[in-house]
Amino acid sequence: MKEKITKAVNFLKKGKLVAFPTETVYGLGADAENGKAISNLYNKKNRPLFNPLICHFENIETVKKQVVFSKNAKILAENFWPGPLTIILKKRKNSSIHPLVSSGLKTIACRVPSNKIALSILKQFKGILAAPSANKSSKLSPTQKNHVIKNFGKDIFVIDGGSTTFGIESTVIDLSNNKPTILRAGAIDKKIIKQLFPDLVEKSKNLKKIKSPGQLKKHYSPNIPIRINVKKLRNDEVLLNFGKNRLKSKVKELNLSKSSNLEEAAKNLFKFLHILDNKKYKGIAVAPIVKKGLGIAINDRLERAAFSE
Ligand code: AMP
Ligand code: MG
Repeated sequence: MKEKITKAVNFLKKGKLVAFPTETVYGLGADAENGKAISNLYNKKNRPLFNPLICHFENIETVKKQVVFSKNAKILAENFWPGPLTIILKKRKNSSIHPLVSSGLKTIACRVPSNKIALSILKQFKGILAAPSANKSSKLSPTQKNHVIKNFGKDIFVIDGGSTTFGIESTVIDLSNNKPTILRAGAIDKKIIKQLFPDLVEKSKNLKKIKSPGQLKKHYSPNIPIRINVKKLRNDEVLLNFGKNRLKSKVKELNLSKSSNLEEAAKNLFKFLHILDNKKYKGIAVAPIVKKGLGIAINDRLERAAFSE
């Protein structure tokens, strides 16, 4: 592993892209201070330039050099870093992060990941890594090495860290305005954040109203049709099930969690969608999943996967 990390760091220093595991999903990393590398990252992902990237840091000290670290930021960092929480903070005037990273915004999305491989890379790289999920824009997120290869072939060096712990993306909270605001439901249940900030604002769940950059209505989508909150299956659909119910598929079924455990379901979500997303099937039907705790983040992903204009 040591050699692989050194190889990854050498690539990154040369402005190349490297995919590596984080505790949420696999990230596609690039040097956040190198405009060419960042531009290449957007290109490789087919990501629109108006959708800003999350910066990954080794520790709080390196974050503080780039952004204004408020009192609330300190509270969140102490409680959730290293870990799957992304905090939007005001960029310092002397920040060395390339403007393309945050699409010209005056803020930076910051995260200190807890995954050991991600941290080792950051430590050895001694810089900041912009790292969105290692997939083509709008497609299913990668939670294993082979998902990354499915997206990019052998073009990109991938470090294998097995299946990721959480299986869904980080929770994104904006501290750049007066009131802390959740921009994206994710691996950390917002209920826990609400205990720290009772005045926490949540972005409207109405997908049509979402204006924040990157909160794209269509995202995380498979290549075959997908229906959610299904009560009855069509003849030729495969079933992504949850818990115990009467739903049945004549073709294939995978159950996110037979015991209705939401952590297990989040971990399996993209893995199972990758398996069911096969042109030999006509469509994916997804069972209803409770909209509580991590179920909110899971439903957010599924609603975007199923969104059609
Ligand atoms: P991804 O890395 O693709 O999983 O998504 C990153 C998310 O963070 C997207 O929803 C972005 O819109 C959001 N994001 C990144 N930077 C900023 C920022 N400066 N302000 C607001 N949202 C951001
Ligand atoms: Mg993504």
